[in-house]
Amino acid sequence: MKRLSILFYATLCFVSCSSSQNKNKPNAIEYAKTIKASELKEALFIYASDDFEGRETGEPGQKKAVNYIKNEYQKLGIESPLGDGNYFQEIPESYFNGKAKASENVLAYIKGSEKPEEIIVISAHLDHIGISSNGEINNGADDDGSGTVAIIKMAKAFKEAEKNGHGPKRSILFLHVTGEEIGLFGSRYYTDNPVFPLENTVADLNIDMIGRIDDKHKDNSNYLYLIGSDKLSQELHDISEAVNIKYFNMEFDYTFNEDDDPNRFYYRSDHYNFAKHNIPVIFYFNGTHDDYHRPSDTPDKINYELLETRARLIFHTAWELANRDERIKLN
Ligand SMILES: [Zn+2]
Repeated sequence: MKRLSILFYATLCFVSCSSSQNKNKPNAIEYAKTIKASELKEALFIYASDDFEGRETGEPGQKKAVNYIKNEYQKLGIESPLGDGNYFQEIPESYFNGKAKASENVLAYIKGSEKPEEIIVISAHLDHIGISSNGEINNGADDDGSGTVAIIKMAKAFKEAEKNGHGPKRSILFLHVTGEEIGLFGSRYYTDNPVFPLENTVADLNIDMIGRIDDKHKDNSNYLYLIGSDKLSQELHDISEAVNIKYFNMEFDYTFNEDDDPNRFYYRSDHYNFAKHNIPVIFYFNGTHDDYHRPSDTPDKINYELLETRARLIFHTAWELANRDERIKLN
């Protein structure tokens, strides 16, 4: 008991004492609370609707998806680092090795107030697997509509903070990547053609499926799998843990983080294209379920309260990474 409370207070200090929060006391909790289940639900019922035809890379439904994301950022008054009102990083058809037509990543960002050259990336893939051969649409609500709408609402929260004079010290890039389902193309294209130098990229928080509950956790749904957090920066792992203890006390499940895990998830989503360049990453994931890559991955099956909690957790982690005095260190 004693040990726990010492750890708890040490953790509190680890998260807030080292950041700027003591100077002008911006309240991260206040902004995290602007991320609401009702708004996530409203957005996901659009993003994972039949209208988007399963968002297959390079196809008309995916073009609808990128326009939706762009419009959301424009409505929020959040610009793209590409300038001139262009939110799309175009990827030519030749890059996809015959697997897709030309496609695009969507980029939006909030410029840091003190260290704008240092970048925190929050990423999720915008594409999914399209329409099955029998004509059924794969809506991809969890995969990865959940990550997509979570990022947009996190961006909204950071923008609210900025409006109140509490913008992040470091810049935050909201990176929606295409071509994940056919081989992590969009994230690889971004790291091959980064808009901000990779050496200034502090970390990537990547989200792929955070709206559902897997069988293992059906009796305790307040959980999330984290993968990669300690592989390149123990400090990143420690911050992530401290944020969770301070604000959430969620169960962080590290099963898939084990080096000998047969699923090899560390190598299987977009964060890996950052990790291979020695950029620390955390991959957030709810685990697989029966609707994974099936037409039945629909928005009515998402647990929106849980999606809200998880999005707020990732927001708090990004907030800490963006606002702490020192950039996190590699091992
Ligand atoms: Zn996915």
